[in-house]
Amino acid sequence: MEKIIDLKDAFIHELSDIYDAENQIAKALPELASACCNKQLAQGFQNHLQETEGPIQRIEDICDSLDIELHSVDCEAMEGLIKESNQIIKQMDECPLRDALLIAGAQKVEHYEIASYGCLVQWAKQLGYNEVANILQQTLDEEKSTDEKLNQLATSAVNEQAGQQKAA
Ligand code: FE
Ligand code: FE
Repeated sequence: MEKIIDLKDAFIHELSDIYDAENQIAKALPELASACCNKQLAQGFQNHLQETEGPIQRIEDICDSLDIELHSVDCEAMEGLIKESNQIIKQMDECPLRDALLIAGAQKVEHYEIASYGCLVQWAKQLGYNEVANILQQTLDEEKSTDEKLNQLATSAVNEQAGQQKAA
């Protein structure tokens, strides 16, 4: 890992980490979408694939405007979260209960992103990157609204169906 000695280094490290995480999610979303039996949930994952392009492009724009380069960071946490969902898909047949677990997994991803972007917004402000802070805040708001949509899906349909499911 690169040396981190000041807040700007920490900012670049965190930005590099979330950039890798976003790219990992973008790759994983098609499989997650095709694994859902709830059509709204599948659509939600499909939509989120398009929504992921925005944050990725914004990070690239931020690098241009600050004249910084990202480090090659592997976000192992995101790797782990995606692995957990893939294990659920492998181990269980398609059903509402599996959907409920996939929503739980997706919410963990959103919360990871919310934590990362929340820190980045604060650090950008402290570093005097006010325009960059606004751009990152936009992504932070989007991640929060995705989390809220997942909440609504879970409470409206999926959890109820999952609760009705009995062991065969
Ligand atoms: Fe990470
Ligand atoms: Fe997200």
